[in-house]
This record gives sequence, structure tokens and C-alpha cells, in this order.
Amino acid sequence: MSDRRASMNLYPWACLLVLTVLLHGCGGGAGVSGSSMTISACMDPAGVDARDIQRNLNAIRNARLCYRRQQVREGPFRWVFHILEHPKAPKGPFWVLPHDNENTAFDAAVYAVATYGGGLLAVDSGGRRHFLGQDPNRNFSSSRAESRLCRDQRLPAPGYTAAVLNHYKGRRGPYLALHNNYDGWQGNGGRGTISLYRETRSSRGFPAQHADAQLRDEDNLVFIAGPRALSADSAVRRRISALNAVGLNVVYKRVDRRSFDCSLSDYIARHAVGEYYNIEAEYGQRQAQQQMIDRLMQALGIQPLRRAPVSPFLGG
Ligand SMILES: [Zn+2]
Repeated sequence: MSDRRASMNLYPWACLLVLTVLLHGCGGGAGVSGSSMTISACMDPAGVDARDIQRNLNAIRNARLCYRRQQVREGPFRWVFHILEHPKAPKGPFWVLPHDNENTAFDAAVYAVATYGGGLLAVDSGGRRHFLGQDPNRNFSSSRAESRLCRDQRLPAPGYTAAVLNHYKGRRGPYLALHNNYDGWQGNGGRGTISLYRETRSSRGFPAQHADAQLRDEDNLVFIAGPRALSADSAVRRRISALNAVGLNVVYKRVDRRSFDCSLSDYIARHAVGEYYNIEAEYGQRQAQQQMIDRLMQALGIQPLRRAPVSPFLGG
């Protein structure tokens, strides 16, 4: 007993209380079976069996972030989400990381939470992109009819969707995501599917005019989405200009019934839930991704948390 108490000294708010919430399948005759969700209190991150957490243990401890484990059961899926929150500024910007193989994005997200407060949710898929054959970022839908629009969603997932989006309840500010992608795209000899220069029926890139060297890379861009054509949406055109002005490339996707793919961006656009920004960076370009976070926060008017003065003589 004394050992346990000693090990929890760092986390005085830790306790064994687990909140259980039953999420029923969104009703409305959708015919979707129920799901359940549990989320732990703050736990010692040292004991968490996940490489993302262990790789960032020092940064998590230095910022005294609260680690919580969330589990969502829905159909055959037993999802595990790793949650990190800044205890002094828990209502700050909140980041979703659907892909467990995108380690650069996770590391950059820890930097974001330590610097700006808020929190992050990272899906645990055992270090891979897919979990039981399901891409976690093609799993946002609230009914069977909606799910049918998406080729890559196996089953409707209203419980999963609500569990992720509930983290934004009572939080001001936008929906945020972080991803990594491979160099270039298949259309220009590269390996990836994401690029500033890839134009499709529904998406188009807007290069920043005066981007720094690394931020000029076609793989480093802010992805946003909306239900309207750009010509009919002056608010989105202003958002693109504001991002370009701080040196960020932008890709805009127009989401309609044909292009909706059950990703988080598309779900938020389709349901007009709020503003969404996804910072995409090439694998391994952590400095670039962190710089992009700083630029986006600047564009959104979100300040870094005040740090303790370096010297007691500078205090006040
Ligand atoms: Zn991704």
C-alpha cells in the first residue's frame, strides 16, 4: 500500500474512480446497436503500455500533464484512446490523432499541449494505421444511412464518434487534428496521397506566398473542409488567406454526399459542428510540424501559456 501511495505522489489527483457512461446508439430509428464508454482518472503515465507515451515520458512529466485512458466498446471494436490534458489549462486547444503509426504528429501534439494547454486524444491501434481492419479516420458517422456513403467504414460508429467529439463540449476554439504523410504523391512520383499540388474534383491547394523553407514542402499543409464551393463561401476564403499570410500552405476540400468519406474533417463539415484544422506534415519533420502549430495558434490568436520566469530576479 505504501509503495502505491509513494508512486502516486506525483499525481495527487489520481484515484481509482472510473466513470462509466452508456452511450445508446443515437436512436432515431437508425437501428444501430448500443455502445459503452469508460474513462479513467489521471494515471501515472510511466505504467502505460504504449510507445507514444513512453517516448514522450519526460515531456509529459515536465509539463505535469494528466494521462487518462478511455475505452469505447462498439460492435466488435474495443477502442483505446490515450488522453493527455494540461491540468492548469484544460480548456485550451484539443487535438485528435486518429493514426497510431504517425509518431511525428504525436510528438508534436505533446509539444502543443505543453505549450498552449488543452489536450489530445490519440487512438491506440498497436502502432499501426488500421485497427481490426478499420481506419480510425474513416470511422465517423452517426447512422447506418450515413455510414453507407463511406466505402472505408465497416460499421456505423455513433458511439465512437460521440466519444471523440464529446471532448469538445464546453471548449471554445476549433476542432484540431494532426497527421503525417509520405513524401510527394503518386501523381508526381512520390509515395503519398496528400499533397498541396494534388487537385481532385473536391479538393484544391493554396500555397503560401512567403513560407519558410520547410513549410514550403508540398506535404506540409493545413487541411480544412466545408460543405460549400469556395466561390460561395467568403468566410472560408478569408480563413485560407489568414493561414497563407502566416506562411502556411492550405488544402480545402468541399464535402458533399459524393466526397464524404467518414473522416473527422468531413463529419465536422457535413454536420456543421464547427471550424476544423488538420496540420499535415511529412513523416519525421517534427520541427516543421511544431512550427506549423505555432503559426496556426498565431493565426487563431491563441497565446502560449505563461511560463515561470527564468530567474527569480526577473519575476514580478
Ligand atoms: Zn493520419
